[in-house]
Amino acid sequence: MGAGAFPGSGGPFGERAGVVRSRPLLLPGRHWLNFVVVLACIALSMRVIGVPHTEGVLWLTVQSVLAGLLGIHLVMAIGGADMPVVVSMLNSYSGWAASAAGFMLSNDLLIITGALVGSSGAILSYIMCRAMNRSFLSVIFGGFGTEEGAVPARGATEQQGEVVPISAEETAALLSDAGSIIIVPGYGMAVAHAQHPLYEVAEWLRQRRKQVRFAIHPVAGRLPGHMNVLLAEAKVPYDIVLEMEEINEDFPETDVVLVIGANDIVNPGALDDPSSPIYGMPVLEVWKAKTTVVMKRSMASGYAGVENPLFFKENTRMLFGDAKKNVEAILMALRSERGARAAE
Ligand code: NDP
Repeated sequence: MGAGAFPGSGGPFGERAGVVRSRPLLLPGRHWLNFVVVLACIALSMRVIGVPHTEGVLWLTVQSVLAGLLGIHLVMAIGGADMPVVVSMLNSYSGWAASAAGFMLSNDLLIITGALVGSSGAILSYIMCRAMNRSFLSVIFGGFGTEEGAVPARGATEQQGEVVPISAEETAALLSDAGSIIIVPGYGMAVAHAQHPLYEVAEWLRQRRKQVRFAIHPVAGRLPGHMNVLLAEAKVPYDIVLEMEEINEDFPETDVVLVIGANDIVNPGALDDPSSPIYGMPVLEVWKAKTTVVMKRSMASGYAGVENPLFFKENTRMLFGDAKKNVEAILMALRSERGARAAE
């Protein structure tokens, strides 16, 4: 397990570093290939027992190389969009490997700590699979069930229409005029540390009797619960922070949605583009609101590396720039007389 998990981790690393393609590698008969390698590894484990030391080391080396190739192959069969689950699974495998080593060395501490890492990684993977509407078994067995030759992501910068930019002052005016507002935070909010000024914007609006709520996607950011922790740190009250299933139906009745540093979790392609690598993942349906303001620095794609048709929708406005600077600019505009007057 350890020999498979370590080289397998090179896949997600290479993919994030941009040196490995994020398209799944689907070799013909790959499941049979994996099965044969697993059998060979078991057979080689038996050869190690009761033979002279040098011979044992030789078989162990061959087995480790085979396990390493198996780890790489299992991970490479998974598309870039599902990599978070794979990373968490690899983490779990490393725990099981440590636990197994604990049994061999009769070391209780290693058994217990390994089992804790293994089971917490497995639970986390399961939660993420459910959130992304992916089959847990499919991920464990290297993309079992993925269609051969599934179409990969289209170019992240492919244009689908016109992009309408908006300024921070115009966004402040939109918020001042709105009765109901939903804020959707994503990874970019975490990177920019924008949660503190965002809290102040939310408070300013709430004091003027506007309905302000936060919508949290289960895989927003880079950890389950990432956004909840950041918002709690900024003292955003829990009762206005809602999970996706609690708030997704409210977007059509919402005046303004502020998407701050989020991308994949608000991608309509996940619902209506079968060729998208994130197809089938539930997303926050922000495009159904009257106006959606997306705050990010450029037209770049998110973690999954797919383009986002949301940016080109008629009711979408793009507020380009660092999330924290823009939220501070919105706050300043709201606090200015013009903003206060508009709110009245
Ligand atoms: P994404 O990674 O899809 O998008 C984040 C966006 O933030 C980027 O498009 C980027 O655009 C923007 N951004 C980055 N820095 C800044 C900044 N300083 N100011 C403003 N914008 C910024 O994040 P989401 O939260 O939407 O989705 C999470 C993704 O991460 C999903 O694909 C999920 O599967 C994956 N994932 C989730 C994990 C989890 O457990 N939650 C674990 C690991 C991965 P630009 O560069 O143009 O600014």
